[in-house]
Amino acid sequence: MKKILVTGALGQIGSELVPKLREIYGADKVIATDIRRIENQVVNGGPFEILDVTNGKALLDIAKKHNVDTIMHLACLLSAKAEDNPLLAWNINMNGTLNALEAARELDAKFFTPSSIGAFGPTTPADNTPQDTIQRPTTMYGVNKVSGELLCDYYHKRFGVDTRGVRFPGLISYETLPGGGTTDYAVDIYYKAIQDGTYTSYIKEGTYMDMMYMPDAIQAIIQLMQADPDKLVHRNAFNVTAMSVEPKDFAIAIQKYIPSFTLNYEVDPVRQAIADSWPNSIDASAAKNEWGFKAKYDLEKMTEDMLEKLKAKQLDRVANN
Ligand code: NAD
Repeated sequence: MKKILVTGALGQIGSELVPKLREIYGADKVIATDIRRIENQVVNGGPFEILDVTNGKALLDIAKKHNVDTIMHLACLLSAKAEDNPLLAWNINMNGTLNALEAARELDAKFFTPSSIGAFGPTTPADNTPQDTIQRPTTMYGVNKVSGELLCDYYHKRFGVDTRGVRFPGLISYETLPGGGTTDYAVDIYYKAIQDGTYTSYIKEGTYMDMMYMPDAIQAIIQLMQADPDKLVHRNAFNVTAMSVEPKDFAIAIQKYIPSFTLNYEVDPVRQAIADSWPNSIDASAAKNEWGFKAKYDLEKMTEDMLEKLKAKQLDRVANN
């Protein structure tokens, strides 16, 4: 990886991945792109271009102009937003991925894109979900994610593109708010714990889903991209996870630091139905065995860090006002 193009770089993952890549490979070696522009460290810390991934020509032109040898494709419409607008989701998630893969094929570039636990469905074994198993998702996002996994496998087999990817669980972070997924509650709960001392969850008590703290997600991407290709049996869509948790688990972890914190429920049927169709816990042993994946943060460690970082952000905001 000498020159890296990142699509959807202003989202929850990109806003932490781009600075980390720039730290490792050099600021001018990471070309951040997104359909929108906001003034932050991604836009101001190195090359940035406006790019709509549904425009295949523009994507290829930018990749060629910067002579990139790696494409990290993050632009996407997440699960809850995709259910609101399934046709837009198909266009961004499928045509965007195809365009990015085509650019990788044309430039003989390495390719990374994340799949999701949303690629599983109600007929998938829900506990310790295997790497290779039934995938019949019932959401547009899930349909897009399975198709994306298959496309990446196809581009590797048919055209020899060095495609790699993971199935991320819900990601928890403090830098950028999540973009409209089903596991967003797991981020909101920390913000509300600090701001209001209470949180109303749209996900029902007892609904287990996999989660991971952003530093582990960023480390997983970099580690997989640097892995010896000869050791990769799967290449795309590796199950990765750090914890299987339900809303009450977060409340108990938060109460250790904010004892008066309370949790209530007001279930959103749309996001609850999506959550119910996803696994309770996934098996990440293929990622562990093939490229050494290991998460550092469990719920306790993550909670301590999240609360500390969010409190510091709040103090910064007060100081700047
Ligand atoms: P996000 O919603 O936070 O960010 C997506 C970015 O894509 C946004 O900055 C948006 O402006 C941009 N975008 C939207 N339409 C675009 C277009 N047409 N052209 C270019 N850019 C466009 O998403 P994220 O959480 O950073 O997710 C990145 C990837 O990781 C996605 O493939 C997602 O499915 C996957 N993933 C994320 C999570 C999670 O919890 N965040 C979990 C599993 C998988």
